[in-house]
Amino acid sequence: MSSINFDAPILSSPIEYLKGVGPLRADILKKELQIFTFRDLLDHFPLRHIDRTKITQLAAVSPSMEYIQVAGTIQSMQVLGENRGRRLVAQLKDGTGVLELVWFQGINWIQKNIQIGQAYLVYGKTGYFNGMLQLTHPEMEVYTPAKAGGKAFLEPIYPSTEKLKAKSLGGRQLGKLLFTLLEALQERDLPENLPARLLQEYQFPTRYEAYQQIHFPISDPAYQRALARLKFEELFIAQLRLGLIKLERHRYSRGVVFSQVGEHFNNFYHNHLPFALTNAQKRVLKEIRQDMAHGRQMNRLLQGDVGSGKTIVALLSMLLAVDNGFQASLMAPTEILATQHYQGLSALLKEMPVKIALLTGSTKAAARKKILKELAEGELHLLVGTHALLEDPVQFRQLGLAIIDEQHRFGVAQRARLWKKASIPPHVLVMTATPIPRTLAMTAYGDLDYSIIDELPPGRQPITTVHRFDYSRAQVMDFIKEEIQKGRQAYCIFPLIEESEKLDLENLMRGYENIKAFFPEPKYWISMVHGRMAPDIKETNMQRFVQNDTQIMVATTVIEVGVNVPNASVMVIESAEKFGLSQLHQLRGRVGRGSEKSFCILLTGTQLTNEARERLKIMCATNDGFRIAEKDLELRGPGDIEGTRQSGMLNFKLADLIKDKQWLDAAKYQAAQVLETDPELKREENSALKFYLQAQKGKLAWSRIS
Ligand code: ADP
Ligand code: MG
Repeated sequence: MSSINFDAPILSSPIEYLKGVGPLRADILKKELQIFTFRDLLDHFPLRHIDRTKITQLAAVSPSMEYIQVAGTIQSMQVLGENRGRRLVAQLKDGTGVLELVWFQGINWIQKNIQIGQAYLVYGKTGYFNGMLQLTHPEMEVYTPAKAGGKAFLEPIYPSTEKLKAKSLGGRQLGKLLFTLLEALQERDLPENLPARLLQEYQFPTRYEAYQQIHFPISDPAYQRALARLKFEELFIAQLRLGLIKLERHRYSRGVVFSQVGEHFNNFYHNHLPFALTNAQKRVLKEIRQDMAHGRQMNRLLQGDVGSGKTIVALLSMLLAVDNGFQASLMAPTEILATQHYQGLSALLKEMPVKIALLTGSTKAAARKKILKELAEGELHLLVGTHALLEDPVQFRQLGLAIIDEQHRFGVAQRARLWKKASIPPHVLVMTATPIPRTLAMTAYGDLDYSIIDELPPGRQPITTVHRFDYSRAQVMDFIKEEIQKGRQAYCIFPLIEESEKLDLENLMRGYENIKAFFPEPKYWISMVHGRMAPDIKETNMQRFVQNDTQIMVATTVIEVGVNVPNASVMVIESAEKFGLSQLHQLRGRVGRGSEKSFCILLTGTQLTNEARERLKIMCATNDGFRIAEKDLELRGPGDIEGTRQSGMLNFKLADLIKDKQWLDAAKYQAAQVLETDPELKREENSALKFYLQAQKGKLAWSRIS
């Protein structure tokens, strides 16, 4: 915890000390809304505002009005229905018409507190039941005409919960607490943190003014200005922090210098490269090369869709290390992947004087001993492997570059262990095939350097993706038969959906039996792989498929990452609606790796949510991982995107990375300006900013670098 306060100490006060709260209400505020302090309450922003002066007459209500405020008298009240349909219904009359008010919860409490014959000011969301206008769980207060007309602001409505409502802390009543709080605050309690020139440039209100106006705006334009300012502030501060981490790393991290492009690289590039590099591969390679030549540690994220050709970039980078007298390692998340990398790289290097080895958990003791010895003596140039590379006995003579493939399977802490394998930390290149939208990547990984391969090698045949319902299963199986007849292979993937592994396994077994009925032995052979299997059996079953001894692979999502069987041309995904977009895309990436036309078939039942439909639609429409990632972001929001989840960087209170793109761009631009002109924030104009960042430090774990 930091001891520096930027805002006035009053904002750190426990919420129970606010007038009108007390210990009981404080308890539910904490439980229901995580509001512990005055500051937390201040950051509880309204959902919307209502114009207190605007009361709609019931006769004038039209279906297009989403929320209405009406004033009227309660005529009658009845409890209707039973069990889940049990509800309290009240009739409210205002002289021009009648409206029904409905409650499904807290019925007893409402019955006790609402009086027939009393006039109320009622606010809520409109709905119709049997043609009758209704407000369900409306906000109510006793109507006093003078009061209603008296206030010159838009009244805020806050997010609330049923439990809070039952303690008189509904969406409207929370406003009373905020009103009390804001009245107690003065300009100096919420000092400005942005440089004056930004306020001027964007016509932003001051920070104090923005808080006043976002809660209790005098007009809609005033609200919009306050909202824009606070969104910008949120994004700008986040960008600035990431930029500062990166600068600090660039400034202080010492890295080995790869000063020359030498014999190995050139020899391979000119004589052994099996294809011409794409422009994207060339560009990325150049970025990596420059990065490793400057004496600071590279910490770079390389993104490229499945099949974009990251491996060759990795190999060329490793050859640069060798050219400069260093060793390099490539770590993959599974034994299968490590083995495939080893075999692929060995084939590419077979005419090169470069020594490469494979180290995994199942490397035999004698071989292992030899590898460790050669590694320590520097005789071995490249080491490919799994987590086994991280173990203590694995000591390099001079590790200069550590590459990690498919990073999401590795934690940040594991990455750090690699660094410790050399006195000067090696350059680190993390390769990922889970595309993250650009906007998000720059925000989530703004502290890392970032390269992207946004182009597939020429001549790739796009995968045809279709959606079929379960009742067409027989046709789907017939289609697989045709492909097998042509010599191809197929995957059938089952989701992990149940709460228990046991049920998942049963589900998989049923699927397996079902497929076996279509594909009987000995004409067909099927491999099965799942997470609960012993590793050696898994490996054997995998290998049988790799070697085309089996034509069908039935698996759970363990297959998701990186496996390469170019002969497989069909990917069937069962219960496809249960998968997220990025996972579907990853799975689909297992086919389309050879020269043959490939297919992905998404099987589902007929009951689908709209969101599931959207996902299937986009999968059928495109093979572009980045477009899919953008869509995923749109459907699920940034908090759920794989790989960003733990970062915590993306949980903005107000800003929305998609809808507020314009402010995100502005924030990025302005943060870059500041970092360029005043990287240490020494100038007077940035002093408040610096102080603010220092005060925030330690309160939030925002460094992703361990
Ligand atoms: P990923 O980015 O998914 O790891 P790989 O590196 O495995 O992709 O490459 C996928 C396939 O594309 C491999 O068979 C590789 O040999 C091939 N490939 C890579 N780059 C090129 C290129 N520039 N031209 C043609 N084929 C390429
Ligand atoms: Mg790969």
